[in-house]
Amino acid sequence: MTLLKPNLSRDYPKAHRAQGAYVYGDDGSEWLDAASGAIACTIGHGHPHVVQAIAEQAQACSFAYRTQFANDPAERLAQRLCSGLGYEAAFFVNSGSEAVEAATRTALQFWRERGRPEKVKVLSRRLSYHGSTAGSLALSGHWPRRRDAGPLFGEPTLPTPYCFRCPMGNNPVSCKLQCVQEIERQIVQNGAESIAAIIIEPITGASGAAILPPKGYLEKVRDICDRHDVLLIADEVLTGLGRTGKWLAMQHADVSADIVCLGKGLNAGYLPISGILLSKQVYEAIRFGSARYSLGHTHSNHPVAAAAANAVLDILVAENLPARAESMGRLLQTRLEELATDHAIVGDVRGTGMLWGLELVSNPITYDPFPAQLMAAERLVANAFELGLIIYPSSGFADKLGGDAVIIAPPLNISEDVLDAIVHRLGAALTQTGRELYGL
Ligand code: PLP
Repeated sequence: MTLLKPNLSRDYPKAHRAQGAYVYGDDGSEWLDAASGAIACTIGHGHPHVVQAIAEQAQACSFAYRTQFANDPAERLAQRLCSGLGYEAAFFVNSGSEAVEAATRTALQFWRERGRPEKVKVLSRRLSYHGSTAGSLALSGHWPRRRDAGPLFGEPTLPTPYCFRCPMGNNPVSCKLQCVQEIERQIVQNGAESIAAIIIEPITGASGAAILPPKGYLEKVRDICDRHDVLLIADEVLTGLGRTGKWLAMQHADVSADIVCLGKGLNAGYLPISGILLSKQVYEAIRFGSARYSLGHTHSNHPVAAAAANAVLDILVAENLPARAESMGRLLQTRLEELATDHAIVGDVRGTGMLWGLELVSNPITYDPFPAQLMAAERLVANAFELGLIIYPSSGFADKLGGDAVIIAPPLNISEDVLDAIVHRLGAALTQTGRELYGL
């Protein structure tokens, strides 16, 4: 009898204790967590304020089913998120995948409430990851995550603006954002009357390692959605609540979505809670339409998980962590760019705030990716792990299986000393990986 893990032939070290940016094994080994787990632990591990809030709420009321009761922590969390971010209603689920499912179902409900039930399609981008449930994975284009999932209900068709290897074959300086024109072309081709929403990650995360949209992109996508009566869903599960140096990544372009998905930044890794925020327009269509919102799960709006998220929010606000992510992120950028100068294996450094991607290349002149079978990203992650550093792999974005990168996304509240230690260990891991890969 055993517990299923990703690689069944590997022995995983046991995480015994974790504090701040460090994870400790039961044999005394120590890892510096430069990936915040899975880009979740924005305030670091084991924060006493969150631990206390969880214990207190568990003692006071550990469960309240949403069809029977309201509960204070979930009400308060909804109020705080909506008033702080300019939205009208919130709903909480357990995972980012469920937040994406809730967002798309809410978009369809919005159009039904508006008397347009034929608007049912949701368009998504080819290079994307929106989750692992059947619906959210169907919207995700990331091939390595789709390949073993069997037939899915759909396939993304929109181009992702990945300027380092433009999917339209353009030069990003002179391209006139043809990738946005393609979104409009597909809306018209499908018939806007059949389309409920478009879902995008404002900054492409797990599937592409911090791919930033080109200047003007988000504004233009918003404009297309408005002109064609299509809702815009921003999947900010990975980018939301401070990670990129703003509360929401869409704020870098001063653009609002109609529905926002939150996850990792909301729970900071403490308890499973994710959620969606609805604009006034979307909320009011439901409130003054059927006034019924029936989707949800046993643990939706869970009081203990909401208490944890409120406590995370306390820390994000009290320590002004989005702003800190912005300033520490600039330092991290400088240090990563220095590493790229010293290590030919790094072809691109991209990102913002405390979300950075290093793309690995087999040739520093042509930027050719490594052959997929070399598993360059996995190798770098494994070497870093051996050296006591946790980073996050991303591969399969260049052409089906090719393309390798790693994500560096430490907790937002690390000190400069910790940042130096991350860069030092990363440099050693790059040296070793470069030797292995170029020597092969
Ligand atoms: N959306 C985005 C942008 C993500 O990065 C992820 C996970 O990496 C998800 C959704 C799915 O979240 P979860 O793993 O919590 O289901």
